[in-house]
Amino acid sequence: MATFITEECINCGACEPECPNGAITQGAEIFVIDPQLCTECVGFHSEEACAAVCPVDCCVPDPNLPEAEDVLLVRARQIHPDKVFPALVELTPALSRFRRA
Ligand code: SF4
Ligand code: SF4
Repeated sequence: MATFITEECINCGACEPECPNGAITQGAEIFVIDPQLCTECVGFHSEEACAAVCPVDCCVPDPNLPEAEDVLLVRARQIHPDKVFPALVELTPALSRFRRA
């Protein structure tokens, strides 16, 4: 699922610089995530970087946007054409929330 920011956001801005894809921006009222740029941090981190720093835990999986790990890895490659990512089968827990125990 793409990650999204709920209305609990307090506009602290902590999440914005943490996103490896530049998916987070300040919206009219709260910070927002572009789902076309969110990869749930697959290829970069063991968990969603925005959620990891959010002081009010309002960066959560969007139940209306379920996405598989392979789709998210393809997106990461498209966003970062110059970066080399491991093959899907080689993703480790450090590089994908889907690999966590
Ligand atoms: S889950 Fe990762 S890729 Fe998605 S918005 Fe948060 S920091 Fe960015
Ligand atoms: S870290 Fe959480 S509270 Fe702060 S701007 Fe991001 S979503 Fe909002």
